[in-house]
Amino acid sequence: MKSMKKNIATVAKEAHQNAVEHGWWDEDMRKIRSFGDFVTLMHCELSEAYEEYCKGHTPNEIYYQKNGKPEGIPIELADCVIRIFDFCAANQIDIEKAILDKMEFNKTRPFRHGKKF
Ligand SMILES: [Mg+2]
Repeated sequence: MKSMKKNIATVAKEAHQNAVEHGWWDEDMRKIRSFGDFVTLMHCELSEAYEEYCKGHTPNEIYYQKNGKPEGIPIELADCVIRIFDFCAANQIDIEKAILDKMEFNKTRPFRHGKKF
């Protein structure tokens, strides 16, 4: 699969557009699912990443099923980000701005936030 450099906002819009084109937003899911439902679905992808770890896959390993479907920890992490991007685009959240704003703030934090862990 060809990889192209795109900004985060563009990728978020494309994640949502693909979900729309595949019928996931035929109804306004914001009226059907609670915020907790969306967060749970995001978290499920992290649990799937953990399952891949439990199966013995290394964090950077991507493997493919016979039908070409990619699998592995990186793919489950990608699924989580895709779900987050889809939610953000559906709710007019500028996730690129949020990420950049938070990263800038994080630079101002004290070493380990003053904590041991
Ligand atoms: Mg998944």
